[in-house]
Amino acid sequence: MLQQLKYLIFDMDGVLWQDNTPMPELPNFFAELALLGIQVAFATNNATRTPSQYVAKFKRFGVAIKPKQIMTSALVTAAFLGQTVKKPGPIYIVGRDGLIEAVEQQGFEVLPRFDISRPAAAVAVGFNQEVTYDDFAAAAHHIRYYNARFVGCNPDTTFPTERGLVPGNGSLIALIQAATDQTPEIIGKPYPPMFEACLAGFGPQANQQNTAMVGDRLNTDILGGQNAGLKTILVLSGVTSKSELAESSIRPDYIFQDIQELLNQLK
Ligand SMILES: [Mg+2]
Repeated sequence: MLQQLKYLIFDMDGVLWQDNTPMPELPNFFAELALLGIQVAFATNNATRTPSQYVAKFKRFGVAIKPKQIMTSALVTAAFLGQTVKKPGPIYIVGRDGLIEAVEQQGFEVLPRFDISRPAAAVAVGFNQEVTYDDFAAAAHHIRYYNARFVGCNPDTTFPTERGLVPGNGSLIALIQAATDQTPEIIGKPYPPMFEACLAGFGPQANQQNTAMVGDRLNTDILGGQNAGLKTILVLSGVTSKSELAESSIRPDYIFQDIQELLNQLK
């Protein structure tokens, strides 16, 4: 039952906004959820931005949230490294601020770009549009010759832009995989660590019965929510069309046009 839900985890792009355009009445949406006693968190596979950059984006759209409500695949990847790799690493990163900051905050040393003079304990891949051949060569060197653990923040092979679909982090990971014959460990949606981190962030009252994942993508948001045992809510305001939904074997618990319709049903 929709009314049992007390915790909602939101994907952002395609759900709360389209790139730089917020969904209509976004501040009112969160005010109404608060009145209903529903707590919210935000889960993104985008590993390039920091939580405070997201807080600033919400603020521009008139919504006040706290950094700890934001869970990025960079944070969850850094936490995974924190549990599995001895400090201080070092870690070799193919990525940007979001991942570098998260890994440093876990107490690791991050190697300079292209540095193969010392072995990295792990290579973490979290997307960078300015990536070059030398980034890949260094990452592959650490994995092949230094036996570095190979970790990817998220598996998305493409993402939508104004010019259409462009290569995403999954495509960068695939290049390094091809160059090393090693299989990466991948952390973001649809894999469980991201959802587990959001549940843990809510506290002990949150569980699989009263928590739902709200997203616009079937193979990450909805499949991942299901893998984690959560309720799932698909909104059709993003990348999934009605015909794609009809053809998919992935079945969300609830389907709404957008978050406005979700709110009307929650009330
Ligand atoms: Mg989305």
